[in-house]
Amino acid sequence: STGPSGREHDDRARRLAELDVRTVIHPHSVIGAPEEPLILERGDGAMVWDVTGKAYIDGTCGLWQCPVGHGRPELAEAAAEQIAKLEFYSSFGDYSNEPSIRLAERLLELAPPTMRRVFFTNGGSEGNETAIKLARLAHHHAGRPERSVILARTGGYHGMGGGSLAATGIDRLRAGYGPLMPGIEFLAKPHAVRGADVTDALIAEIEERIERIGADRIAAFVGEPVLGVGGMVPPPPDYWPRVQEILRRHGILLILDEVVTAFGRIGHWFGCERYDVEPDIIVTAKGLSSGYIPMGAVLVGERVLDLAGGAAFLHGFTYNGHPVGAAVALANIDILEREGLLARADRLGRRLLDALKPLERLDHVLEVRGVGMMLGVELDRGPDTAAAAAGVQARARADGVIVRASGNTIVLSPPLVIDEQQLDALTRVLTEHVATA
Ligand code: PMP
Repeated sequence: STGPSGREHDDRARRLAELDVRTVIHPHSVIGAPEEPLILERGDGAMVWDVTGKAYIDGTCGLWQCPVGHGRPELAEAAAEQIAKLEFYSSFGDYSNEPSIRLAERLLELAPPTMRRVFFTNGGSEGNETAIKLARLAHHHAGRPERSVILARTGGYHGMGGGSLAATGIDRLRAGYGPLMPGIEFLAKPHAVRGADVTDALIAEIEERIERIGADRIAAFVGEPVLGVGGMVPPPPDYWPRVQEILRRHGILLILDEVVTAFGRIGHWFGCERYDVEPDIIVTAKGLSSGYIPMGAVLVGERVLDLAGGAAFLHGFTYNGHPVGAAVALANIDILEREGLLARADRLGRRLLDALKPLERLDHVLEVRGVGMMLGVELDRGPDTAAAAAGVQARARADGVIVRASGNTIVLSPPLVIDEQQLDALTRVLTEHVATA
């Protein structure tokens, strides 16, 4: 064999792990108390391999970002070609590049017809910063500067920046940073546990809150079509159309955070199609480029343009409109389309949900839920629930399956290319460890 011996593998793995612990602060980690890293170095489809050569079925595709799966040569080629031609030039003001123009055209073809323009970003947090500022600016420019309040939801996740974190309704992520951006009002988490009838109460709360604050002080409502980090929670069926009706009546803009739900994850190009809702702004990232390179896009609808037309939008980050990101995104969208991955998300998602649903018979499983390839298994072990969920994550990983504990919920979002055998293997491992959680 020409490959490194098992022993060299192990030595390199150990040295890298020690070095990681001594040098890197990981996102979402404890400073000064690093954990043993899982150092990944190769991927193919729904599989990834670590530096010791151990294989894992990727049950989350990282952080939901990879619908087309790992190791796609077409995407490597798209990036390399663009880097060789023109690696980057800023898009500020009147500068532009062909991949961005082509991608904007493509996104507007795929999006609901009320979407009119695209603002490119590097990811989801930046997208939500952009959406919140744009919604406020639109009203300001239309002569209503007092319309600045943003309605958000408990359990919502919109990112880690000043505005996007302020709109994130997860307490553990907000603590310790002093005052966050003011002007955010939180509504209840839209969660109908085991189909409980809660929509009327959720809708009544929105009406009351708007009444109390005054519609003429509210700029926008921001929400994920399906809560992601907040536990993979699909909304009650008539929630979104009813929310939209209220917002329209009061002149409040609707920002849909589709960072997870767009590009096939729930069986459509955009999640809003599934829920019959027409947002004013759609925020995307992740699946747009399958994470091969950081890329996001904010789609801006006609109502926002009507309000904001002629306003100076002095906002933008250096790498917005990155030609390499745009070239990769175009190639990624081609794969999603060519391989029929949107329909596949629905079909395999239903298979996975059916396979996991029997876990609800266990006393310590509160709910198994999901839509498309966004699924969650919520545990209930009282005060020990988050630790129990983390334990499932750790034991599944030891058995070669990557799942993620998000609070009390084990979240699943495999690449859409995962095959039936991999899905069944994942189900077996997860079922075993949830049963003993
Ligand atoms: N919105 C949602 C719904 C997300 O799930 C995430 C990331 N998990 C973000 C925004 C933030 O995106 P990013 O990490 O790319 O900034």
